[in-house]
Amino acid sequence: MQRKIGLIAVSFFILILLSNMIVFANEYERNIYFDGEKINSDSNIKDVNGEVYIKARFLSELLEADLEWRKSIQLLELEKENNYAKMMKGNPYLEINNTTRKVANGLIIDNDQAYLPFKKIVEGFGYIFTTDSKSIYVFNAEIMVNKISFDEKNRRLKINLSEETQVEINKMEDDPEKLKILLRRATLSGDFRDELPSEDFELEIKRTQDKMYLEIIVDSTKNLAFQKSESIIKTNNDIFINYLSKLKEITWEDNQGLKIITDDNIIGEAQISYLDEPKKMVIDFPHTILNGFKNNFSENRWIEKVEVSQFKTNPMVTRVVLELKESSYLTQEKRDNSIIFYPKGQVELSNLEYENSVISFESNKKLQPKIFTLSEPDRLVVDLPGAFRNYSFSDETAEKDEVVKKVRTSRFNSDVVRLVADLKKQVNYNWSTERNGEGYLNKIYLNNNIRKIEIGDQKGYNEIRISFNNKLDYEVKKRESPDRLVIDVRGLENYNRKLNLPEEKGVVKKVDFGPYDKDVVRFEFLLENYYGHVVNSDNKAKNVSIKLWKTRREKEKEDLSDLIVIDPGHGGFDPGAIGGNGLQEKEVNLDLALLVRDKLIKKGHNVLLTRKTDEYVSLQKRVEIARDKKARIFVSIHNNSSRKSHTGGSEIYVSQNYKKEDMQLAQLINDNLCDEIKLDDRGLKQDNFYVIKNTIMPSVLLEVAFLSNPHEEKLLGSNVFLDKAANGIVDGILDFLEKDRLEAE
Ligand SMILES: [Zn+2]
Repeated sequence: MQRKIGLIAVSFFILILLSNMIVFANEYERNIYFDGEKINSDSNIKDVNGEVYIKARFLSELLEADLEWRKSIQLLELEKENNYAKMMKGNPYLEINNTTRKVANGLIIDNDQAYLPFKKIVEGFGYIFTTDSKSIYVFNAEIMVNKISFDEKNRRLKINLSEETQVEINKMEDDPEKLKILLRRATLSGDFRDELPSEDFELEIKRTQDKMYLEIIVDSTKNLAFQKSESIIKTNNDIFINYLSKLKEITWEDNQGLKIITDDNIIGEAQISYLDEPKKMVIDFPHTILNGFKNNFSENRWIEKVEVSQFKTNPMVTRVVLELKESSYLTQEKRDNSIIFYPKGQVELSNLEYENSVISFESNKKLQPKIFTLSEPDRLVVDLPGAFRNYSFSDETAEKDEVVKKVRTSRFNSDVVRLVADLKKQVNYNWSTERNGEGYLNKIYLNNNIRKIEIGDQKGYNEIRISFNNKLDYEVKKRESPDRLVIDVRGLENYNRKLNLPEEKGVVKKVDFGPYDKDVVRFEFLLENYYGHVVNSDNKAKNVSIKLWKTRREKEKEDLSDLIVIDPGHGGFDPGAIGGNGLQEKEVNLDLALLVRDKLIKKGHNVLLTRKTDEYVSLQKRVEIARDKKARIFVSIHNNSSRKSHTGGSEIYVSQNYKKEDMQLAQLINDNLCDEIKLDDRGLKQDNFYVIKNTIMPSVLLEVAFLSNPHEEKLLGSNVFLDKAANGIVDGILDFLEKDRLEAE
């Protein structure tokens, strides 16, 4: 074994020596590529201590330079246009274009032939000199590549050169996404800048094998419309290469409509135009080509066909034409890299969800659903006519629970979208819809469920309101330490536990709810500084409503009715006073009372008339109405009469056993009325008219004007006057109520 190793080592050493000798000899046989042209070097070059020397005569021919040998001073001169080089025998200096450089080996004279340092001379003359193991390359790269940039707006790569040159641009065979740009006699300028966005482009720059061409390989995420001759534009010193977007795909999906997908966000630039007979929509995509385009269109109710073409090539435009079946155009929506077209006038369904036995979804318009159940197996079917599903209204929801196995949707026919809930048991259902921004939020409750918990905040009280989708049994209990109101509700099975709870308001400090007992959900309202409550809802209720008073005074005020009873005097067979021109008091009283009522109702008051038509109502009945309805005030409207026709003006009566409030009410109405109608103020009077004597609430009787006075009869027949009178009465009543409210505080 040892002997063998020794033998190998010796052979190896010999081999190294041999190969060294071969490499040494080969140096003299290197090819010369001069400006891309292969030239046989023959014996024209020498290796002098590792530096390449070239025969001066041979070099002058290559460079087409003048060569002169001044034998007397042993000086060699090489000159071409503005360049010159000088070397002397025995002198280690090279003078080239006014600069002097030391040259290790000086000028070599061999066999009467002068040899010059190849690299130093050609570089001095503006050439580029490079070598590899086989060749020497000398070339004149006079074209400078100054800048490579990308023009985002026009989607093109720009190569800026110092001057025009021959360019060859090809896609790389091994990687079609790469582009190879060959620029003859070009090199990068000293201040070359690559200004390409690095996230989209990568550059690789080198020289070609013969060194004549600068080779720029552009690797880009952007698409190149390279199969089109228009994709390369040359203008003087610039080369433009168009990078274009691709129209990738057209799809039709029942729940999405027609979708046109590009590979780049150029959707905003798409231009849509409309044609009639046949109805067409034309969509032009600028800077876009059809490259590997997939057409997944299928005929549907709305679109007859889709045509796609490379409509223009300079500039590049791809055109999509939709031929429509329906009389109306499609609505469009631009989203990222796609445009979606869907039928106009159809209800768009979105955001389908299922949770806690509630199916919910949104619609941009109000729906007219048809809901029914099917058995074996149990299903709930909801047909939604005139609708289409958008991407967020899925074919199936992932959620399921003890009520629902699956909620699925499909297009039932060209008009109807069908939603089916596959049920685990038979359940009640309940549809509700409410406005939600621009559209509607639709809910189908598959069980008794809580819809909302709200707290209203009014001046004197708070109101707790719990809404269910069905009528439910409940019980309200007051608990102490701390003060709280509990509401136990039966029949809520899969109720919504994630309901939004209202924030504290007024006397309600905290709201909570949760399972309490078998089949009982307890709602608890923590209270503070509250006086008392009353349940306003029925025993079995869809909406539980509880009023909570903030103070005793508020509750007491509440106990007093806010009803205003207006009593138009006379009526039916009893005309009251009759004017000289035949105007009857009963008519004027009713007209005025109706005006007063309407004005008070407009101001938010509760008003009752003792008669609304020309009918006889007894005085006893009038008093009973006010008493039974617990009127807050009672105002009887009359008009006066006198034997003397010149007598005129307004009077207001209170009963002879009047209360303070009667007088206050009379005074305020009188002041306001006289201000409005500007008749004589005959003042406040006392008389035991039946209706004011027998009513317990503040009550007055007005005699607005005299029908026996021709001027006032005329006024009472005019709507303008009656309107003024009504305003006066109403203002008087409102002043009284306001004063009453202020005194209560
Ligand atoms: Zn009367």
